[in-house]
Amino acid sequence: MSGLNLKGTLFMETTITAYNYSDITQKVNTLVSSYLSVNDSRMRRVIRDSTIAEIQAILPADNPITEAFIERLKPDRLTRKAAAALLPTLEPLVEPFPDLTSKQLSKLFRKVKKLKQPEWASVNRHQLTYLGWNDGGNQKKYLVAPYQGKLIGIQGDMGPKTVKNVCAICHTIGNVSLFVTTTKAGLETYTRNGNYICRDSDQCNRQLTDPQGLAEFIETVRSKR
Ligand SMILES: [Zn+2]
Repeated sequence: MSGLNLKGTLFMETTITAYNYSDITQKVNTLVSSYLSVNDSRMRRVIRDSTIAEIQAILPADNPITEAFIERLKPDRLTRKAAAALLPTLEPLVEPFPDLTSKQLSKLFRKVKKLKQPEWASVNRHQLTYLGWNDGGNQKKYLVAPYQGKLIGIQGDMGPKTVKNVCAICHTIGNVSLFVTTTKAGLETYTRNGNYICRDSDQCNRQLTDPQGLAEFIETVRSKR
């Protein structure tokens, strides 16, 4: 049957997004935390079964990586250490953020002289739905995000103050700063937009489990012409 062939070809393809991966990571971490507070083993089983069902709904079915992962989630009281070792086994399924060269980045920020480069060495591209980094000296933040099938660059001023509030991108309460962008709205008109977003964009990505917030954020700050 042709179905078998199809299954064979789909096998090694990357089938989940970085925000799916962040979502699964959060679900596993919540499960591990619940083991520390729930003493009743039947209750732990209920929590575990529902977490596994939620994760199975995200991962590709009939896939050896999925099957091995779910198998290792089944033992009671999985430790934090075991969870940390288990999660990266999903990375072959995750579509990573593109490894952009400095030339490609410069093209996204044409007007910026001497663009500070992101710290690629400390970034896990499997955990990035968008790329964001700070230029502390100039109090700037740079974002590269998918928009209508391509990547766009967004730059803005990052306020020096950090407060606890909801991030406009990941919709999580955390350490956010005011990010102010100036976009051209017409020939001579400019719009200034201020949004509180996570100061640490890598942390923001780890909290980003639904791309809707990012899409809405880009819609407000992108250049309108
Ligand atoms: Zn955030």
